[in-house]
Amino acid sequence: MLLALGGITLSANGCANAAPGSAEATTGVPSIARATPTTTAPRTTATTTTTTTTSTTTTTTTTVPATTTTLAWQQFPKAAVQPVFAAHGSAPVISHINTTDPVLFLTIDDGIVRDPRVPAFLAEHHIPATLFIVPGAAHQDPGYFEQILALGGSANSHTRHHPDLKGKGVDEQKGEICGGAAAMQATFGSAGHLFRPPYGSWDGTTMRAAAQCGMTAVVVWRASMWDGHIDIQGGGPLRAGDIVIAHFRHDLYDNLVLLVALAQEQGLTLARLEDYLPAAPG
Ligand SMILES: [Zn+2]
Repeated sequence: MLLALGGITLSANGCANAAPGSAEATTGVPSIARATPTTTAPRTTATTTTTTTTSTTTTTTTTVPATTTTLAWQQFPKAAVQPVFAAHGSAPVISHINTTDPVLFLTIDDGIVRDPRVPAFLAEHHIPATLFIVPGAAHQDPGYFEQILALGGSANSHTRHHPDLKGKGVDEQKGEICGGAAAMQATFGSAGHLFRPPYGSWDGTTMRAAAQCGMTAVVVWRASMWDGHIDIQGGGPLRAGDIVIAHFRHDLYDNLVLLVALAQEQGLTLARLEDYLPAAPG
């Protein structure tokens, strides 16, 4: 199916950027983490799809900061969300957040091309993004990414050298995953606890290595954007809880324009993935 949208062509059934060993394989094995409402939030539930068992012993409550203006994404989550835990020493692989909240999540990878229109567009539309940056790009131009991080997201490991991890030994995978997180910490003063495998390629060793590096989730995606197109695994349209991947490339600005249009069409708000995958308590 092809849709023309603001001069951009949307292919809902494209097949590029298929991720080996990724997302779809994980969605059939949900474990349920039932959320406990906060004192003020409406009673809704938020659950997380994982490949492994999720502990349900601890609840993290998210409160909206007492600022004069509440941004759209700050209305979410509507209910408290429980942290995802590494079960049996493996970080779960997550492609979609099961939630009743009308939210989408933007993730952006790599960082080689740094279009100045992108931070401005994200700021104008108050869109937080979860970043998975290669260390070299972060080191080259930290200020560029800090403009985006200031909107609410975090900088996370995308490995040190961007290899295809699948099939590699645990020590090599750990070196890449832990090294990526350490580079984010060194460059930005903080690092997130999520991990995105290059090319969406991972195996069971990746899940164990990520957990050993302190990562709480291996984050893949359900929708990917390229050249002003979107690919949605399992078919469109975008739905609540979808994780979207884009890259810091020359097409990013066009992809973001399309994403905002599609989100509006579906009544979805681009919210913070970090709020739906909170850190496990100390
Ligand atoms: Zn990448």
